[in-house]
Amino acid sequence: MFIDHEYIEGLLKESKDATREDIQRVLDKAKLKKGLEHKDIALLLQTEDEGQLRELFKIAGDIKKDIYGNRVVVFAPLYVSDYCVNNCVYCGYQRCNDFGRRKLTREEIQEEVKILEKMGHKRLALEAGEDPLNCPIDYIIEALDAIYTTKNENGAIRRVNVNIAATTVENYRKLKEKGIGTYILFQETYHKPTYEKMHPKSLKGNYDYHLTAFHRAMEGGVDDVGAGVLFGLYDAKFEVLALMLHNEQLEKDLGVGFHTISVPRLKKAEGMDLTMFPHIIDDEMFKKIVAIIRIAVPFTGIILSTRESAEMRTEALKYGVSQVSAGSCTGVGGYKEGENGRSVSQFQMEDHRSPLQIIKELIEDGCIPSYCTACYRQGRTGDRFMQLAKSGQIHNVCTPNGLMTLMEFVLDYGDKELYEKAEKLIYNEIEKIQREDIKTLTIKNIEKLKNGERDLYL
Ligand code: SF4
Ligand code: SF4
Repeated sequence: MFIDHEYIEGLLKESKDATREDIQRVLDKAKLKKGLEHKDIALLLQTEDEGQLRELFKIAGDIKKDIYGNRVVVFAPLYVSDYCVNNCVYCGYQRCNDFGRRKLTREEIQEEVKILEKMGHKRLALEAGEDPLNCPIDYIIEALDAIYTTKNENGAIRRVNVNIAATTVENYRKLKEKGIGTYILFQETYHKPTYEKMHPKSLKGNYDYHLTAFHRAMEGGVDDVGAGVLFGLYDAKFEVLALMLHNEQLEKDLGVGFHTISVPRLKKAEGMDLTMFPHIIDDEMFKKIVAIIRIAVPFTGIILSTRESAEMRTEALKYGVSQVSAGSCTGVGGYKEGENGRSVSQFQMEDHRSPLQIIKELIEDGCIPSYCTACYRQGRTGDRFMQLAKSGQIHNVCTPNGLMTLMEFVLDYGDKELYEKAEKLIYNEIEKIQREDIKTLTIKNIEKLKNGERDLYL
């Protein structure tokens, strides 16, 4: 299998005695933005010196600014089913947990979607546990249909990413035909013995089948895949290097690597005890990981969920995170039922701010909150997307689209305070657009939005 454990362990062993000078050489190389080798990444993971850490964060921040500007894509998860046949020891949905499980009916999905649309969301991540009997692929296809067809005044969900269990080429083809955005699947841990320990006696316990899911997804026509590791299950340094190997294997075999990488950290969940996990990472290590991933794969989006606190999210946005969830509920039917509902959460959240509050705070921090889904709808997916990203031209679409979707959000879901803050930001940002034709078009489109038009994008 392509995650060569001995190779990774060898790299980590060699880098253990890294001197300050060794690490400095890699930092100087990273500044050139010409890519890093595996041994460079292993060395960066050893950085402990405060001055060098500052330098590492600065390089990651500069790369982020160059490629993504100050936009931040906002989305929300939608849990449709908590049936699960697996027993992942870190998850609130593990089959040993005894609670009334359920899946949403079409009507219930529509109700949840309407609430999400009223919050201003345009981009969702559909989440479901693994249960071939209670939650078969046809149910997921139905759920996607319910989501895409539920409109609510100006509200519409324009892109649904799907996070469901590893499956067959045939099932991935069905998802593709139904118009999914990114197919998301977390490897959880790339370390095989740990993987098997964390997923005892279950469908998900087949490491190789799980690891090759993206190959099957792409064979089934899915263009964009999103990876992730649950940091805390095993040595984070091993996981970062393994993520790189997985990404490179996809590039080699299918011409395009990860569209996104998610960086969840292990959190308390129903039926588990955090003290069982010796590899929990602290905030400093977490920030270092985000920065190193940003430097190592500059064109791959980094996603952060509400597992992290508002403070950590603000901080990580500086070093490389490009997408955040907002106003999330991590239980089935959670949006309608609110905090006192009967749903069990998959994990505990730290950031409980509403999307409106998050949008205001992002603007205060100088970010452009974006609800853009343009690439997917323009067919800029897979290698077409990567080519545009790598050419450095993606700025020409991301910023205007971000500004237009922000204006739309403000007009439909904002209050007076947000209108004032956002309008100032929008016109300041338009001033910075270098191509005159794009600047003019953006100004025109902002006016059109104010006059009632919607869903404008480049
Ligand atoms: Fe089921 Fe997924 Fe939770 Fe594992 S992580 S128990 S597969 S919902
Ligand atoms: Fe994402 Fe494409 Fe929109 Fe940029 S233009 S924010 S890459 S969907």
